[in-house]
Amino acid sequence: MHGPADVAIQGEKIAAVELGLDASNAARVIDATGKIVTPGFVDLHVHNYISRGGRPSVASDSTSLAFGVTTALDAGTATPSQYPHYWETDIQSTNVRLYSLVRMPDPYGPDPATVGEVQELINSYDTLIGVKFHHSQHFPALPMAREAADFGGGILMAEAYGAPMRQLLDWLNPGDILTHTFHAAFRFPIFDHRGKLWQEVHDAVERGVYLDIGHGARGFAFRTMEQSMEQGLKPTTISTDLHVGNIDGPVYDMPTTMSKMMAIGLSLDEVIEMSTIVPARALHQEDRLGTLKPGYVADVVVSEVQQGQFEYLDVLHERRTGHEKIVPETVIYSGKLYTGEKFVPGEMTHREDAPQGFIQNET
Ligand SMILES: [Zn+2]
Repeated sequence: MHGPADVAIQGEKIAAVELGLDASNAARVIDATGKIVTPGFVDLHVHNYISRGGRPSVASDSTSLAFGVTTALDAGTATPSQYPHYWETDIQSTNVRLYSLVRMPDPYGPDPATVGEVQELINSYDTLIGVKFHHSQHFPALPMAREAADFGGGILMAEAYGAPMRQLLDWLNPGDILTHTFHAAFRFPIFDHRGKLWQEVHDAVERGVYLDIGHGARGFAFRTMEQSMEQGLKPTTISTDLHVGNIDGPVYDMPTTMSKMMAIGLSLDEVIEMSTIVPARALHQEDRLGTLKPGYVADVVVSEVQQGQFEYLDVLHERRTGHEKIVPETVIYSGKLYTGEKFVPGEMTHREDAPQGFIQNET
C-alpha cells in the first residue's frame, strides 16, 4: 500500500491504518510527515549466538533492532548439540523476534548428529524452523540436511559456494533458500564460463526457491548482481549475514544493505518488499508479519529516505554511488518503542575477497 495514512497501534497489534485517524486518545503520537512508514524489516541471515563466545556472532538488538530489523533468522550458528544452550540464552534474552536454523554437522566431524536427532530438535523448539548447509561442510552433510529439513516442512538454507551451483540447486525445493547468491568468491558462481546464468538458476526461481543476498564478508559482489539483472534475474530477499567480520564494513547493517541494492537498480518499493513481506513469507509468517494491516503484529519502522551522493562498497571493495539512503529513525517492535543501544561501527577489518585473477586493477 502507498500514500499517506495514520497507523494506530493497540497493545502488540496494529489496530487501524487509515487517513485521518483521531489521535486525541493516543498515548503517544509519532509524526512521520515526509518519512516512509514500513513494516519492521525481516533479515533472513544473521548470527547472534553470542553466549557461546568467540566468532562470529553479534548482539542482535544493538545491530539489527536498532536499525529497523524486528525479525531475524539465525543462519545455522548453533550445531544441534549447542541449540538448547542457544535457545536458553540468546534467543530468550533478545528483543528481535528470532527464528533459527541449525547447522547440519559433518557425519565424520567432531560433533556429529543423526538426521533423527535434528528432526527431534525441530520438533521440540518453535523457534527452530530448518537446517543450514554451510560451505565448510563436506558434501555428505547435504543429503542429511535435506532429510532433516524435510521433517515437518522445514527450510533448507544452502550457501551458494557450498558445492558446484547446479548440483546444489538440484537439492533445493520450493520454499528453500539459497544465500550468498550473488557472491564472487571461490569457484562456483551462478554463471557458466560464458557468463550466462545457468538455466538451473531460472528453474529454481520458477519452482519457488528464494534467492537471498546474504551479503556477509564474501557473499555479495555488485558485478555478479548487475550481470544477473542484465539477464533479467533479481534477488528474492535482501539479508545481511551480519557478523563480526563485516559489521564494521562493508555490510554495516540492514538499511545500508537495502540502500546498496537501490544503488544498482532496484526500486525503493522492491527493496522494501524484499526486506519485509517476502522474507516473512519465507519464514511462513506472512499472516502476521511483514505487512502493515490491522491485526498484524505492530512491527513498524519510520525512516527518512535521504537524497544525495552515497558511496557503497561490496566484498571486493568495488564501489557504486547511490542517490538514496534509507535511515530508520523510529523502530517499534510488538507495539513497543525501541530505545536501547545502537551499534557504532569501528574501523573496517574486512579484506576484499576474490579468487586469484578475478580483480583486474587498472594500476
Ligand atoms: Zn552466515
